[in-house]
Amino acid sequence: MRVSNWKKPRNRYAANATLLLLTSGMLLTGALTAQAQSSTPLADTPACSGPGAKVALECRTWTEIDAALKQGMHTVILPVGGTEQSGPYMAVGKHNRRAELLADRIAETLDRQGIATLVAPVIRYVPEGGTSPRTSHMRFAGTLSIPPEVFVRLVEGAAESLKAQGFTTIVLLGDHGGTQGALAQAAQALNRRWRGTRAHVFYVPGYYRVIPGAYADWLKRQGHGAEVGLHAELSDTALMLAADPSLVRQQALAAAPQKPGTAQGVYGGDPRHATAALGQRGLEMQVGEAVQAITAFERAAP
Ligand SMILES: [Zn+2]
Repeated sequence: MRVSNWKKPRNRYAANATLLLLTSGMLLTGALTAQAQSSTPLADTPACSGPGAKVALECRTWTEIDAALKQGMHTVILPVGGTEQSGPYMAVGKHNRRAELLADRIAETLDRQGIATLVAPVIRYVPEGGTSPRTSHMRFAGTLSIPPEVFVRLVEGAAESLKAQGFTTIVLLGDHGGTQGALAQAAQALNRRWRGTRAHVFYVPGYYRVIPGAYADWLKRQGHGAEVGLHAELSDTALMLAADPSLVRQQALAAAPQKPGTAQGVYGGDPRHATAALGQRGLEMQVGEAVQAITAFERAAP
């Protein structure tokens, strides 16, 4: 096994100097006597307030992160969002809010399974089209776009930073469809560069693919087939309602005189009958896909 600590979670993360000064032999004894109680180096450490705070990298001091790494934590999620128009009824931070919330849920689930996982800050700037002339989502106000090569370098820089301090499993989750190819490429390039080291970038395509795949199929079985489209339609809006309804203009959407179309930034489908209950199923599928993939990767890692 590349790293064995995650399989034997210690009883408590005791961040005191005495423990840190123990010899490796004594640490081994401690690990053997402490029964696995599904707590990891992140258990019972201070964190800031708000959802996901327990797993947020930003909520910890460098010394807390360093100590957790020394205790065997080695997994971090790098969520990638995007700031883009999503029609007249959803705020432009859609991907960022969902990426953060889902990464938190995934990390918390992994942590409960004995895989201590932190969540790095969401990457909110991604390629979204040209600025001159304005193309794709850049044709609408509120969208922020960066050149594709800048995006790849940004992801690489963040991943290199995490590797340098001791993380060995760097998970890439992309919430926006348009970044999937670049994330796969960045992972490939980094893994080539890191060959011979213990570090690996693990890009999880299923996190996104389940939305136009199994989730869309499920919505069709619920009788919503014609309302599922490509962007800002029923599935997208339902996911947002389940994740954070404050980003959806529900009253205006319900009162929409007609199906919003391409000119308004809604591509295919119809968002008017989206509900949080429908979206909940999709979020669960995304979390399930990612947790399963990351757990299998951790278990198979040489
Ligand atoms: Zn998108």
